[in-house]
Amino acid sequence: MNRETQSFQAETKQLLDLVINSIYTHKEIFLRELISNASDAIDKLRFLSLTKSELLGDDEIFEISIKSDDVAKTLTISDNGIGMNHEDLIQNIGTIARSGSKNFLKQIQENSAADLELIGQFGVGFYSAFMVADKVTITTKKAGETEAFKWESEGTGTYTIEPATKEGRGTEITLYLKKKEENSEEEDWEDYTESYTLQNLVKKYSNFIRYPIKMEVEHTEYPKNEDGSYKYDGEPTTERKVERINATKPIWLKDKKEIEQSDYNEFYKSEFHDWVDPLETIHSKAEGTLEYRLLLFIPKKAPFDFNSNQFKKGVKLYSKSVYIMERCETLIPDYYKFVKGLVESSDFSLNLSREVLQQNRELKVIAKNIEKKIHDTLLYMLQNEREKYEEFWGEFGKNIKSGIYSDFQAKDKLSDLLIFLSSNDSTKKVTLDEYVSRMPEGQEFILYATGKDIQSIEKMPQMESVNEKDWEVLYFVEKIDEFITNNLTEYKGKKLKSVSHGEFSVGESQVTKEREEEMKPVLEAIKNALEGKVSEVKLSSRLKSSPVCLVSGKNGISLNMEKVLKDYDSFVPKADRVLEVNPNHKLFEVMSKMKDSDESRFKTYSNLLYNQALISEGIVPEDANSFINQISELMINNISE
Ligand code: ADP
Repeated sequence: MNRETQSFQAETKQLLDLVINSIYTHKEIFLRELISNASDAIDKLRFLSLTKSELLGDDEIFEISIKSDDVAKTLTISDNGIGMNHEDLIQNIGTIARSGSKNFLKQIQENSAADLELIGQFGVGFYSAFMVADKVTITTKKAGETEAFKWESEGTGTYTIEPATKEGRGTEITLYLKKKEENSEEEDWEDYTESYTLQNLVKKYSNFIRYPIKMEVEHTEYPKNEDGSYKYDGEPTTERKVERINATKPIWLKDKKEIEQSDYNEFYKSEFHDWVDPLETIHSKAEGTLEYRLLLFIPKKAPFDFNSNQFKKGVKLYSKSVYIMERCETLIPDYYKFVKGLVESSDFSLNLSREVLQQNRELKVIAKNIEKKIHDTLLYMLQNEREKYEEFWGEFGKNIKSGIYSDFQAKDKLSDLLIFLSSNDSTKKVTLDEYVSRMPEGQEFILYATGKDIQSIEKMPQMESVNEKDWEVLYFVEKIDEFITNNLTEYKGKKLKSVSHGEFSVGESQVTKEREEEMKPVLEAIKNALEGKVSEVKLSSRLKSSPVCLVSGKNGISLNMEKVLKDYDSFVPKADRVLEVNPNHKLFEVMSKMKDSDESRFKTYSNLLYNQALISEGIVPEDANSFINQISELMINNISE
């Protein structure tokens, strides 16, 4: 095979352009990305070697090494991990495989260069090398194979691949560093060949990578007298030694007291490819019959693919510091799928297969504990750090809600974590517990109202009498909110009820029996005029100034559910609609009179009323055009009369 030249895929090209021309100031993070990739490559090999030990040969000591040359201005990062063959180089480096990366590209094109921060999360961290280098070469040999290859690119449209010679397996990446331009305005320009700078960067970003990161370090010894004091006139001797420059113990095995939050943050970012610190860290150790350690993180921001089916939940598994699995799904329930982290236990067997994992008793115990830890952490945050909790809620609240909707067993525990805006203060969210504790005497239900936003709920006719009573109403403004009530029918013995539910009323009906009898014929006539659009027309005790409202009947889904389901274009069962009329509204006097004298006008009015009620529910009347025509006609008649 000769040297071949290939073009980058269009997206990769665009991405490289962005990276190369970026004015992003934290260029130093390229080192973290390359070291993380090296560590991942060793992880992959270790994992494969559990079943194929021949892959290791006699090279069993894993390490990452950093070498710099301050004359040639190069920096080389090598590992003895899995390596890449010809195809891998094209697949992994030449193309952006994950579809999410395209979203990333779109995002940074639309926004500013600051978004480059996200590069690692999107699985394109390698390209960050081009922020500091104007040429990059990769010399690599895949474990178990004999041929080595050299990949080279200047980050412009093309790259080359050619056969190469390389001793052992693994990957060696050399960056030909950009030189500082004269008169450069880049104040924070760094020389990445300087040993001191590199050591600091490793400490800052990659300290807890579990493989040794080795580098040649200079030690200067000053001669000493016999009593240990320094000699004044002695010549110092300088020795250069290759040594490990990162911490020797994985962070999760350390004692909590020895660890600063900043250590956790950097570990999290390098291990889980995030660019912002985690919102919360959970580190714990279990001792007894089952020994294990947990290090879990609640991210601040949901990953870009969180709501897609590409997103995979799970925590990493380690046994005796050996990585055994990238994502153990059984350890994390779906409703906490945003949690990232790892579990280490010497009780895990090294070659756990997926099937074994499903059955594993120890894992079940650990899963239970993980769930409890996350729950307790969130509850603590909710009770003591409300602002932080609201930040969490904004990002992952929907996920908790969907847990209540889809996991019957978890619903009670999860309901403690719910917060909603309410009529008490439309800017402050309230928990169900807080709601229940301030329910006044006489209020039987936990009330909620559904609508597309606070304003439309506040204007709902059904709110009129509830507000008069001063009963608090939870605002269900997210589509999923009402679905929760399918499973969560009560909280602390109090039933949840929609203010738009047919069976709910604020108190005894104010309508006298006589009045009811008197109105019966007109109600009946309205129902007939509506020709099956509603299942019932009845007098309302919840309306104060509005003439009508629609409520959900006993059977079938609610109006809001019908609306939501329509958005999903699924088969939509029709809600059971009940039209409630305000007996004190002047319109009904008019209608009563019109009933026998002008049948066709009565029909038009009935439809107008029904459509009004629909509109106040945020539903567009099915025959919107005839509704408009009817109103226009009414306006004309009004003038001519
Ligand atoms: P990510 O690491 O998030 O997948 P990168 O752009 O950093 O994205 O790397 C792309 C791919 O290139 C990796 O997934 C991996 O398959 C391969 N790769 C990168 N660095 C190495 C390495 N040191 N050894 C082996 N493969 C590597």
